[in-house]
Amino acid sequence: MKIEAIDIFKKKRPVIVSGPCSAESEEQLLSTCEAIAKTGKVDILRAGIWKPRTRPNNFEGVGAKGLEWLIKARNNTGLPVSVEVANFNHVFEALKQQIDILWIGARTTVNPFSVQEIADALKGTNATVFVKNPINADLELWTGALERLNKAGITKLCMIHRGFAQHGKSVYRNEPKWQLAVEMKRRFPEIPMVCDPSHITGSRDLLQEVSQQALDLDFEGLMLESHINPEVALSDKKQQVTPAALEEILDKLIVRQPAVPDQELNSQLEMLRQQIDIIDDDLLKLLGERMKVAENIGLVKKEKGVTILQTKRWEEIIEKATENGELQGLSKKFMIRYLKAVHQESIDHQNEIMNSEAKLNLNMTEGEA
Ligand code: PEP
Ligand code: MN
Repeated sequence: MKIEAIDIFKKKRPVIVSGPCSAESEEQLLSTCEAIAKTGKVDILRAGIWKPRTRPNNFEGVGAKGLEWLIKARNNTGLPVSVEVANFNHVFEALKQQIDILWIGARTTVNPFSVQEIADALKGTNATVFVKNPINADLELWTGALERLNKAGITKLCMIHRGFAQHGKSVYRNEPKWQLAVEMKRRFPEIPMVCDPSHITGSRDLLQEVSQQALDLDFEGLMLESHINPEVALSDKKQQVTPAALEEILDKLIVRQPAVPDQELNSQLEMLRQQIDIIDDDLLKLLGERMKVAENIGLVKKEKGVTILQTKRWEEIIEKATENGELQGLSKKFMIRYLKAVHQESIDHQNEIMNSEAKLNLNMTEGEA
């Protein structure tokens, strides 16, 4: 991929994008943008004017007239402005008004037809486009969106990690699944990654810790929703913060460096990393051995004609292992995720062996050990 750096990311770290979830009125947008610009800590303004809402009777944005308000906000603050686009017409309107940055929302990244439509609309322009992760945890869709834009000649790209929809209870509105964002950083080291703690948390109380976590994972920027009066916001009211609260969050952030030229630190880190590598190696060997035992279990079950899944045994394992895990300082949440992954791999091994010609050989594990 041919990627060009976006100017602001060359100059500052972290880049702060802020502004209301939605532009609601000229007054609300200008007062919010002017107040956050005054802090001197915001680099890019944001506001949604076409709002993708899950249900049709919610506020769906003010539409194209909001673009003129955004331009006024830019003129009054000197800051570049960004807006969400979801179809050909949005791109056309936004470019006509010379909006500086476009972003593609999670509900759009998920749909290759929409992304292609946007990419086609952008062909031949020099637009800067931020791409949010898709709602579901599918990195190929996120990657595909970047590729479609890049194929259309868009080289100034940025990724936004806004968390992923999940089943079941969570403190987050959208589960961060940090590993997925880290994998995208690995795939596209030249494309900056911005975290959107507002849509991850859905709640202003958690913004500080999630913002800090993102910076400690070496993210290049943050997108935080702000509103002159969040209590009366027409969308995402619980996660928006006042300009003063935004400033407080930004002031408290600790910006650490990815690397420092410090010999002692580097050799200490090197030593600790070697320890981690050795432990990882041991863990993998043990997991491999565990799978061989699982294969033998598969063969025993095959001979006796019993099913792979034994629900009661699985429940016992979960109970015992989460207790043991806690004693080792491992959270219950991690233990369950870990056990499910190991269990699934074990089932896959058993499945393969039960449907093969393999015969039971109980010496196999002794030989390996
Ligand atoms: C937004 O940024 O206002 C938005 C709609 O976000 P997302 O696409 O992440 O849901
Ligand atoms: Mn929002």
